[in-house]
Formats: sequence, C-alpha cells, structure tokens
Amino acid sequence: MSITPMAGVPASELRGVIRDHGGGNARVRALDGVSMAFPAGSWTAVMGPSGSGKSTLLHCAAGLDRVDGGHVFLAGQDITWAPDHVLTGLRRRTMGFIFQSFNLIGSLTAEQNVALPLKLAGLRVSRADVHAVLASVGLGDRLRHRPRELSGGQQQRVAIARAMATRPAVLFADEPTGALDSASARTVLTLLRRMVDQEGQTVAMVTHDPAAAARADAVVFLADGRLVDRLEHPTARAVAERLALLEAAPC
Ligand code: ADP
Ligand code: MG
Repeated sequence: MSITPMAGVPASELRGVIRDHGGGNARVRALDGVSMAFPAGSWTAVMGPSGSGKSTLLHCAAGLDRVDGGHVFLAGQDITWAPDHVLTGLRRRTMGFIFQSFNLIGSLTAEQNVALPLKLAGLRVSRADVHAVLASVGLGDRLRHRPRELSGGQQQRVAIARAMATRPAVLFADEPTGALDSASARTVLTLLRRMVDQEGQTVAMVTHDPAAAARADAVVFLADGRLVDRLEHPTARAVAERLALLEAAPC
C-alpha cells in the first residue's frame, strides 16, 4: 500500500499524541499531547533538550512506535490503528529514513544498498534509476564501493539516496549530521535543501545543531514531551537562543 499526498494536506501530522515508555514506577510520558504538522514540500526541524521526546515524536509519526493516545496521519490518512503489515508497507513505499549512524548494510555496495528498499517494496529496480539517484547525491563514481570504503559524509549520502529511491511522501531524519564533521554535514544539509526546493520533498528532521536547524523552513521545539514553540524561517542565532532558554529552564 502507498499513499499519494494531496495538495494542502500535511505530509505527516500528529494530533494530541500521547506516548508513554516503560511501565510501573519507571513509566515516562515521552509525548504529552503533541499536535503538529509537517507541511508537504517543506523541511521542518525538531529540536529540544535531550530526553524531550524528539526521537519518540519521529517514531510515532512514522508508525515505528504505537501511540497511547491521539492520532497520527500520513498524507491525510489516519494510520493510528493501521495493522502492522500496512505500516510496514507504508514505511517501505511512502516513508524514507535516515539516521545518525547511516545504517547501511556493510556487505553491500552503494548501488546494492540503494536498490534494496526498492526490491523490498516490490518495485521494479532499474539499474539506470539506481545510478541516477546515486549521481544526484554526487556519488555517481562510487557505485561499487562498500560502506567501509566511503567517508562518513559519503555513507550518509548513500543513505539519503536509499531513502529517496522510492520517492517517499516524507523523509524522516533523526540527527542525520550528528556523526559528521562540519564540512560533510554542510554537504548533506545542502543536499536535503536541494531535494526540498527542487523536488518538493518533505523532510522531518531531528537535530541538536542550530546551524542544521537553520537550513530548515521551520523549527518546532519540544520540552518535556510538549510542543512549546515554532519558528518560521529560522536563523541559527534565534534557534540557539531559544534552545538555550529551554535547556536552562525546561517548561
Ligand atoms: P530525545 O530524542 O529528545 O532525546 P526520546 O524521545 O529519545 O528523547 O526520549 C523521551 C523520553 O522517553 C526520555 O525520558 C527517555 O528516557 C524516554 N525513553 C525513550 N525511549 C525509551 C524506552 N524505549 N524505554 C523507556 N524510556 C524511554
Ligand atoms: Mg533522540
């Protein structure tokens, strides 16, 4: 199953989402009534102090975590109670993921890593398409390289190519530049910016880095599992100031 986004409908939306982790005395309310949208064709950064619920928010939006209350929408469709096999299909065809640690398969070449999700999604894999997507991330000359033969920045670009190969309605990124040096981070962020501007990609990105967040169209701030602010057209300075206030005195 795949979902085609409709004009004006957010690519991803949470309404009143509650998510608890752990049980008994160890229970933690990671999300406490979060309502927000990731508008289609734009890039939203999610920031907040460590433990504020950023990863949980991304996991709930992607259907990787079940919510304990509220609703989750993907391209306007309520996926809150979708059965596991439907969510698995949606994750393969309609969502892309990139992570801090790249999560490439070490024994596969760059082109094999990119082709894998297409195969898993049951889509026909054309070598030309795989090459085109790797060329679009500047790795047209690294097709047969394995992850250990690539730099961190190159590995993350393979991961982006892999995530983009199915043309997902939304690309979820959890600290995608967290393991990169600043030059590689800039390259990756510029690539994401281009995908949003030129291909209308929707990006939902968790980051700790105000400079990374400033490349997004908007930044939402979490504190203690609640959405506390939203900045449009962020600057690194405005983001850093807001974050410093939250880290000093969480709401
Ligand atoms: P962030 O990504 O902002 O650092 P998380 O979403 O990872 O925050 O975590 C939010 C809260 O939920 C934290 O208090 C964290 O300790 C707790 N938490 C996250 N995952 C689990 C888990 N699997 N089991 C128990 N507690 C968890
Ligand atoms: Mg996290």
